[in-house]
Amino acid sequence: MTNSLLPIFILSSSRKILQVNEPAIQQFKLNLAYNGFLAMDEPSNMKWTRFVKHLKYIKEAEETFYIRTANNEYELVRFKCHYHVKNEEIVAHATILNHLDDTAYDLYFTQEDNRYPLFSTYDKIPHGIILTNANDMIFDLNKHAAMYLKREKSQVLDSAHKSIFDSFNLKDSELSYYFSKLTEEKFATIHVVDQSQSNRALYYEISSVFDCKKNLIVTTLLDETEKIELQQKVEHQQALNVVGQMAASIAHEIRNPLTSLKGFTDLLKIDATEDAQMYLSVIDSELQRMEQILSELLMLSKPANINVELLEFDKIVQNVIEFMMPDALMKNVMIQFISSPMTVLIEGNENRLKQVVLNLIKNAIESMYNGGTVKIEMCINRGSLLELSITDEGSGMTNETIENLFQPFYTTKTTGTGLGLPFVKKVIEEHNGEIVIESELKKGTRFSLHFPIYSFDPLDTLSPNEKDSNYLVT
Ligand code: ADP
Ligand code: MG
Repeated sequence: MTNSLLPIFILSSSRKILQVNEPAIQQFKLNLAYNGFLAMDEPSNMKWTRFVKHLKYIKEAEETFYIRTANNEYELVRFKCHYHVKNEEIVAHATILNHLDDTAYDLYFTQEDNRYPLFSTYDKIPHGIILTNANDMIFDLNKHAAMYLKREKSQVLDSAHKSIFDSFNLKDSELSYYFSKLTEEKFATIHVVDQSQSNRALYYEISSVFDCKKNLIVTTLLDETEKIELQQKVEHQQALNVVGQMAASIAHEIRNPLTSLKGFTDLLKIDATEDAQMYLSVIDSELQRMEQILSELLMLSKPANINVELLEFDKIVQNVIEFMMPDALMKNVMIQFISSPMTVLIEGNENRLKQVVLNLIKNAIESMYNGGTVKIEMCINRGSLLELSITDEGSGMTNETIENLFQPFYTTKTTGTGLGLPFVKKVIEEHNGEIVIESELKKGTRFSLHFPIYSFDPLDTLSPNEKDSNYLVT
């Protein structure tokens, strides 16, 4: 220290001068009689306290202060400090900035008063960026950072670095691990959750880099909500797949005893009393319901049928409508069918497609407790897709229902199985098709299916207008 040509101070945390070298005394015209403390102007005083706190934490830091000399003048001085933990001393290498050029002044003042306009230019970047200075104070952030922290920029500026984590419920141990990593490795990452919104948790990755040279902590906030949600969905799906496979094999096993039960109830009916007949018919209908669940379950778990042929989808739909008509009439529901303007062929499996249309029409009828019309329309979409839409005037669906529609066993009906739509989805995927759902509560729902067209029937001589009027109303 005595050999150095540059001013060096050894100070206590409270700024008592413990030792000082000759260049320091000379350059700073120090009045060592001044209580033995390094005197500063008031703003620097406040800055010092924060600076020391930070320095003890990161061990090495730089900062600029206004130092009072013996002539009662102030010098702008940059201190490059090391903190010696053992002696609890601060070794400060000082540079008087007044003796340097004007840019040093500019730097000091822009940083203090106007702040760096650095990150306002980065507002368009879709991540949050926060800058913290050596005094542990946030001095700039971009728009996304303020948005993710749910605070105004002005509310974040000047707060401590730690305040970034205020809106996330972190354990003390997680935070201290993060800070100790940042101190030791100059880099730390943490994953946080914002639970303040009741309907959706938001996930962020917060990473900080400590730049020793510039004495800055640069923190980035990445919104990883979509990624996490996707991961959760995949995990859920995998769990369901296992459950689905198990359910299918159980269904198989249950089928046989069920057949015997049915046979024996039929036998019992022959000479049962009137009371017993009543109970037996309840047993019968319950057995029927069990059988329906089993057959839907087995249908869903069946592998894709390789029996593919060229089909006139129009005819399949017509067939199903005829089959459903009695049920619809009983529930006061009309079915209106508008077929496609020309005959189109698609590649597919007739049986499975029939089941799809049946499931959709059944759901549509079931959604209309007070009757109404189900409109089924076929048209050619974007030149190469056949569209079948099934529109009802029923209850419509809540967002929650729409989100869960295709989950096996999801049902809002007391006697539902929740297996219809998962099956529909599976079959549509097998046919390289797509499903589009539009729904409005209390207004109705529209399921549209899109299939690739194999070919248009070349022998189809009907003009589109004539075909258009080919509809059936019940
Ligand atoms: P299920 O009909 O046995 O309940 P699905 O898989 O066919 O099972 O349907 C799942 C759920 O989706 C239904 O319980 C219902 O809440 C909702 N849903 C399906 N189609 C409609 C529709 N057309 N209108 C209103 N809700 C519907
Ligand atoms: Mg259904």
